Amino acid sequence: MTPRADPLKDVVVVGAGLAGLVAARQLRRSGLSVGVIEAAPTVGGRMVRSPLQLGPERTPAWVDLGGQWVGPSHSRFLALLESHGLRRFPSPHGGETVLSFGTHRCTFSGFFQGFPEGQPPSVPSGDWDDAMAALKQFQDLVASMPEGHPHHHPDADALDRLSFQDWIDSHTHTPFAAWYFAYFCRAVGFLGPAEPDQVSLLHVAWGQRTAPQGDHPEEDLIHGGAGQVPALLAEGLGDALVLGEPVRAIHQSESATGPGLEATVEVITDRSSHPCRAVIVAMPPARAGAIHFTPALPADRLALQEGMAMGNCSKVLVAYGRPWWRESGLSGIGIGDRPWVELCADSSDPETGLGVLAAFVVGRRRERWSALGAAQRRAAVLEDLAAYFGPMALEPLDYVEKNWPEEPFVGGAFAAWMPPGLWTRSGDALLRPHGRVYWAGTEVAERWPGFFEGAVESGERAATAVAALLG
Ligand SMILES: Cc1cc2nc3c(=O)[nH]c(=O)nc-3n(C[C@H](O)[C@H](O)[C@H](O)COP(=O)(O)OP(=O)(O)OC[C@H]3O[C@@H](n4cnc5c(N)ncnc54)[C@H](O)[C@@H]3O)c2cc1C
Repeated sequence: MTPRADPLKDVVVVGAGLAGLVAARQLRRSGLSVGVIEAAPTVGGRMVRSPLQLGPERTPAWVDLGGQWVGPSHSRFLALLESHGLRRFPSPHGGETVLSFGTHRCTFSGFFQGFPEGQPPSVPSGDWDDAMAALKQFQDLVASMPEGHPHHHPDADALDRLSFQDWIDSHTHTPFAAWYFAYFCRAVGFLGPAEPDQVSLLHVAWGQRTAPQGDHPEEDLIHGGAGQVPALLAEGLGDALVLGEPVRAIHQSESATGPGLEATVEVITDRSSHPCRAVIVAMPPARAGAIHFTPALPADRLALQEGMAMGNCSKVLVAYGRPWWRESGLSGIGIGDRPWVELCADSSDPETGLGVLAAFVVGRRRERWSALGAAQRRAAVLEDLAAYFGPMALEPLDYVEKNWPEEPFVGGAFAAWMPPGLWTRSGDALLRPHGRVYWAGTEVAERWPGFFEGAVESGERAATAVAALLG
């Protein structure tokens, strides 16, 4: 079949996740003609919501299968929410956190996720002191990191040679402290999730510098779900938005060296071909690796696409008739080395009256879990929730899981991470354009990579650069 040929556009954006849609909106506002091509049948990528199946007598309610939280320093994303009139509510966390470690279970009026807050848990004081002494050293390392990409840091080579596990082994002395940092690596923000033996120490230290948990990036939730944003951004694109067509190839003519030329780039799917003057590829580097580029990409970019793995995470949302855990003084935050769920949190929208727990199955736990049958996976998650909060966890109204590594056009959650050696080999390739091809997507952001905020920053940055190129 001969591919359908579209009329010439100024810019084609490949990928209709948050980054691509933000880039397209900005370019359209600056008067350029834009096409957006998305592989999946819907827009949104890692930003997607799903209705709960609650029966006809209940008010419809939504849960986010992808990203959901927003923090006070996510200024770009907060502005976007405001411009669409989307309302937020504080992420519920009143009450005691549950910590489960080995055979020990305790509740405490504090929290830790990379940083400790409030009262410490009642683990043996030697364990906690060991974790806190190592945390102090980790925070010193974090403070030495730049806010921009870290591969030009004076110690980048040495830090990038090590895995985070190397650092854990040489800075902790108790199993609890070792787990504290491994949990931090798996469960927090844009660090993958990755297992600590997989990820570069440079990546982890910089991640905490540029996307600090101390800024409370999980402070607020969005009524109706963050997953409603992509469709709002896509409004008005009309037939400039092509869905369900993975881009297979991007060809640039050898003369695509300066502005003013007509069609110099061709974006090709199985069904259509899109001539344009510049392209923004807005997706994780690993997914861009499935696109054939002519002229060929340089070696450092190819290594980036090959090596920057997506996080190993599944998200599970479990809905109950009410947030019953609060009746026993619990916050709904559970942290622990349980067989499956290392972190869960209360995500109940007060306007629905429902209780919703968001649970994460990450790292090698996720690999074992995803090999189980559907009923076993459900039972495994519910048993861990019951261990954290009590047996009522076993009787939900609805249970929804999203196994992100199985999503063909995303490939993982929350975001991508760098193994040892990759930052120093390929860091420059994250943002360096390839002729008239520019890169966006949360992974390339210099601030809040892995978060919505980073996706917005990357989309705006790429759009600004392309608008300047095209004059
Ligand atoms: C489970 C989970 C929880 C998260 N929690 C949070 C949170 O609470 N707060 C927060 O700020 N962030 C969170 N995130 C991260 C946040 O969702 C992402 O940072 C953001 O949505 C990434 O947007 P993006 O546009 O960069 O990439 P993506 O959303 O991955 O978009 C890339 C798009 O490109 C498309 N694509 C891929 N290949 C092709 C191709 N060949 N041709 C055409 N299109 C293609 C994909 O289908 C996709 O739509 C979470 C993510 C997940 C998955």
